[in-house]
Amino acid sequence: MLYETADGLADGQRKAADLQPAGIRVEIVDATGLRSLEPNLAHDLAGAIYYLDEAQVDARAATLAMLDTAQRLGATLQAGTEVSGVWLDAGGRVVGVTTKQGDIPAGAVVCAAGVWSNDIARSAGVELPVRPRKGHILVTSRAPGLIAHPMLEGSYAASVTSAAEGIQVALVAEMTAGGTALLGSSREFVGFDRSASPAVAQAIAARALRFLPRLAQASIIRSYAGLRPWSPDHLPLIGPVASAPGFYLATGHEGAGIGLAPVTGQIIADWIVGGRVPELGDTVRPGRFAGC
Ligand SMILES: Cc1cc2nc3c(=O)[nH]c(=O)nc-3n(C[C@H](O)[C@H](O)[C@H](O)COP(=O)(O)OP(=O)(O)OC[C@H]3O[C@@H](n4cnc5c(N)ncnc54)[C@H](O)[C@@H]3O)c2cc1C
Repeated sequence: MLYETADGLADGQRKAADLQPAGIRVEIVDATGLRSLEPNLAHDLAGAIYYLDEAQVDARAATLAMLDTAQRLGATLQAGTEVSGVWLDAGGRVVGVTTKQGDIPAGAVVCAAGVWSNDIARSAGVELPVRPRKGHILVTSRAPGLIAHPMLEGSYAASVTSAAEGIQVALVAEMTAGGTALLGSSREFVGFDRSASPAVAQAIAARALRFLPRLAQASIIRSYAGLRPWSPDHLPLIGPVASAPGFYLATGHEGAGIGLAPVTGQIIADWIVGGRVPELGDTVRPGRFAGC
């Protein structure tokens, strides 16, 4: 986590100290230390907080691995089947889903349709506060050795929690196994528009160049945009919906849904299979929002 100023670094240090009781290991890195950790960073940065236990995951590989494991454990995958709504019994209990390929009965239905979750939830009489928050990624030409650690700037958290509707940009940079660099990040509310915008790409590139001047020698070979499922308090909605028995939500993870996928699955399993309120159940309970 990179900081441009001494004040910023001090603030980062305070935030890191708050995380210590949870067992999160950090090291404070000054400007000299940062130069030896990441020689290609701009030399005028104040320092960084090094989160030693951070790791990187390939979202597509992780998804396929989880899918494979689920199927080996007995799950059935019905790909390419669009759910048009939930199936309600006379008492208002959710007892399955309806699809163009036929109805599917179920003891419990988990709505995990990302930014499209509201389309399904509405059929259960539930109105979600989840909104699409667009984000762009730039992929550079191969730049082996550009950086050794995934990095983001200290103001990234402020861009996540910002209430602004317009574009927020904060540096995120990491390498792929293929030697290209992935650069982000942007945040904006523009409905369901997923088109890539040259202006946003330019803003991300400018921010990346400020931290990594060596990027001037690389090209952007691709850029794409996706929609994050934003929730008003920046926490996901995971768990049962009181007004629609049998209906569960697992959505609203915004920009952390890959990292939070395993714990989300654990919470849902605790509710449905374990029949108990999970440790984090109240924090992420959908009922904290009116209409859920
Ligand atoms: C630019 C960008 C960078 C990001 N970086 C990170 C990161 O570094 N770390 C991180 O953890 N997260 C990151 N995220 C966020 C992450 O991608 C999301 O939080 C996550 O994908 C949300 O998962 P989900 O399963 O809720 O929704 P999705 O991944 O959107 O999946 C929802 C699925 O439901 C399906 N679906 C929708 N409607 C229906 C229907 N009616 N019937 C059947 N299926 C349906 C969709 O086809 C889709 O497959 C990033 C997102 C963006 C856009």
